[in-house]
Amino acid sequence: MPDLHVVRPLQVVLAGGGVAAVEAALALRDLAGELVEATLVAPNEYLAYRPMSVREPFGYASAQHYPLSEIASDLGMHLICEKVARVNTRARIVHTQEGTELEYGALLVALGAATRLRYEHALTIDDAHLAQTLQGLLTDVEQGRVRRLVFVIPGRLAWPFPAYELALMMQTRAEKAGAELSTAIISPEKRPLGLFGLEVSRKISRLLAERQIEFISAAGCEVPDPKRVVLMPSHRQLEADRVVSLPTLHGHALTGVPKTPRGFIPIDPHCQVRGVERIYAAGDGTDFELKHGGIASQQADAAAEAIAALAGAPIRPAPFRPVVRGVLLTGRKPLFLSACYSGGHGFSAKMTDRATWSPPTKISAKYLGPYLDRIDRIVGVHGGPRQPAGAATDEPAG
Ligand SMILES: Cc1cc2nc3c(=O)[nH]c(=O)nc-3n(C[C@H](O)[C@H](O)[C@H](O)COP(=O)(O)OP(=O)(O)OC[C@H]3O[C@@H](n4cnc5c(N)ncnc54)[C@H](O)[C@@H]3O)c2cc1C
Repeated sequence: MPDLHVVRPLQVVLAGGGVAAVEAALALRDLAGELVEATLVAPNEYLAYRPMSVREPFGYASAQHYPLSEIASDLGMHLICEKVARVNTRARIVHTQEGTELEYGALLVALGAATRLRYEHALTIDDAHLAQTLQGLLTDVEQGRVRRLVFVIPGRLAWPFPAYELALMMQTRAEKAGAELSTAIISPEKRPLGLFGLEVSRKISRLLAERQIEFISAAGCEVPDPKRVVLMPSHRQLEADRVVSLPTLHGHALTGVPKTPRGFIPIDPHCQVRGVERIYAAGDGTDFELKHGGIASQQADAAAEAIAALAGAPIRPAPFRPVVRGVLLTGRKPLFLSACYSGGHGFSAKMTDRATWSPPTKISAKYLGPYLDRIDRIVGVHGGPRQPAGAATDEPAG
């Protein structure tokens, strides 16, 4: 039954310029077509393909960047390069920091997560500057000046892959250079990549052990100086030549939108924000515990379906049912991991050396995957045909 209070076309504001916002934009175009008029609001000019940044310190090309203006024009959407500051939920108006006011019939909040440095004495991973941060360390590893390296995953709410990938790739480079290196990964996970279930996690444990990488499960740790890590609660001390940490993740403050104490947005199974009408949220900024591009996309799809139904499209919105898919770069052949996820656990998990999804990219997304694949194959990001975004080969840098 159509909602008679909905103005057509439905004015949709998509706040954010990352994976979740662009996936939602593509899904809405497909599901609702002319029933929606959408505006993308984001301060960044490019959609960054963040997972591929882990290869940058090892001499590979920079992670792909796609102009948002071209994506918006392709989809017939408006683009405003500004920052969303607050939402007046009663009047249904989004205010930007720059003073623009946008009325909405539906709003999707997809601002990602804010990152914070956890340890003053560790190198903290920032995907916007990964090559600068880690190139010096790589040289020190290859030249034998760093022999004991520790990677820290500082909390449960973290991107799961980069610490493992960087540890594996560092170890490969050390082997190639004939340098001695032992590495440890400290994580609050009980088992390595435990979200993929026990069987996959055992295989990952074996892989890490073969590559001289020790996995240490600890509720937390401190880094009192650049060469020492203290595990909590055991107070066991580890010596290290260098410590590398992921940042901690928090939500962005957005006045008017409900949030948890860490600033994440609480959502229901259709990705509607709890306690407010016509506001949806997707991606790293929500209170869902897994921060992952594929999950962000699935949330964006669920939100887009709910918004399309609100706009009058003949669709019964499906709830968000998480399936985690990930490509783990190892410095050799990549591994393809997948699992259904519910109640904090992975099940029906698989680990293969070939992708079980298509295109076989790092971020597995229903609309964004094929869309970026098409752009890459036809024009290339920088003007020539190239390897698809996130296509995972671990070949040496060319
Ligand atoms: C090094 C690294 C490796 C990773 N590896 C993988 C992997 O292998 N596989 C995988 O699936 N995922 C991986 N991830 C995680 C994945 O990149 C994120 O989960 C995904 O980008 C989340 O999408 P998002 O849209 O929620 O947030 P983001 O991609 O962070 O996008 C948020 C957007 O919101 C914009 N924004 C922020 N504030 C405002 C504001 N006030 N107003 C308007 N816009 C705003 C930002 O500019 C940005 O465009 C990795 C992440 C990192 C950092």
